[in-house]
Amino acid sequence: MPPDFRISRSAAAVAPFLAMDILERAQELEREGADIVHLEVGEPDFDTPACVQRAAEAAIREGRTHYTHSLGLWELREAVAQHYHTEYGVRVEPERVLITTGTSGGLALLMALLLDPGDAVLLPDPGYACYPNFVRAFHGEPLRFPTIAADGYRYDPAAVHAALTPRTRALIVNSPSNPTAAVQDLSTLEALAGLGVPVISDEIYHGLTYGSCAPSMLQATDRCFVLDGFSKRYAMTGWRIGWLVAPREYVPALQRLQQNLFICAGSVAQYAGLAALREAGDDVQAMRAEYALRRDVLLRGLRDLGFGIPAEPRGAYYVLADARHLDGDSVRLARRILEEARVGVGPGRDFGAAEGYLRFSFASARDRIEEGLRRLRDWLPHAHPGMDR
Ligand code: PMP
Repeated sequence: MPPDFRISRSAAAVAPFLAMDILERAQELEREGADIVHLEVGEPDFDTPACVQRAAEAAIREGRTHYTHSLGLWELREAVAQHYHTEYGVRVEPERVLITTGTSGGLALLMALLLDPGDAVLLPDPGYACYPNFVRAFHGEPLRFPTIAADGYRYDPAAVHAALTPRTRALIVNSPSNPTAAVQDLSTLEALAGLGVPVISDEIYHGLTYGSCAPSMLQATDRCFVLDGFSKRYAMTGWRIGWLVAPREYVPALQRLQQNLFICAGSVAQYAGLAALREAGDDVQAMRAEYALRRDVLLRGLRDLGFGIPAEPRGAYYVLADARHLDGDSVRLARRILEEARVGVGPGRDFGAAEGYLRFSFASARDRIEEGLRRLRDWLPHAHPGMDR
């Protein structure tokens, strides 16, 4: 029999991440000498805090560069457990904490843990572009429940309940949310926890809120999976380090998966993460204060330019803006804005029910946001023929 070089149906079903397409085209333009304002990327422009850099340098110098325990360094697991006690007043035993290769690594472990072919995972809509692709890559079926802009993108437990099927093996909750920047309150989390389906709470944007703090799913229930990490609030996207808190009885199976799929998270990154949790509190505070200023500049600027912003961002670093008055096709619009105005923006289509919207990130510096707004102001009269602004 000749070899069959097809890729799997699951791999073929994984969709491209459109914001990355915009970023990659922007980088191509930059190589040709263009100056691009990047509002398309969900990545802090801050350097990793100095105390974290020093800890990583010391780890390298001292040869702490080998495999660690598959579940992670014990001190780091303890520090994560302590973090839940300090920040949320909940008790998490370090034995329930796994250190992962970013939140993404944790999500891969959970999909492998929970899904058999054809099982479903229920996702928020709009929601993070990669969720459905994680589900598909692990032979599952992504299903969505609606959240509504006019309602502040609040999760409606009744709508979630209505979307459950007998094959639903998990519900993903993301607060603060990418892309809506909505924060769910504790009573909503409690209602979701009571639906009887395993909850995966992606809390990667915790610590980045503008107003009241985001409650953790662990305050609502012990019987959930919580993903978090260092990428966003510690400006450590490139270190690829995160964690997963799981109910105790799932830890042995997760450990087997981690041993086989990843062996362990990177050792140097784990020492860096330890320093972040122990020492980088002030750095996080300073970055959050700067994000709050950027948020106000972007929000005001976009409103002045005529974008509809039905729900103000309460967390993360995104503004999801209604651009349907310009073009209902968000990919075409984002491409034009990049080519013609030299501003990168995220097409809403990436995120499910956000077609016609654009996602603007305020993870870029304030002067770059202001420059992006100026370019949009100059470009808008050319947005479509005959448009008079
Ligand atoms: N979840 C959400 C909602 C995200 O926005 C991202 C990053 N864009 C991730 C998970 C992945 O984060 P990490 O760097 O920890 O893998």
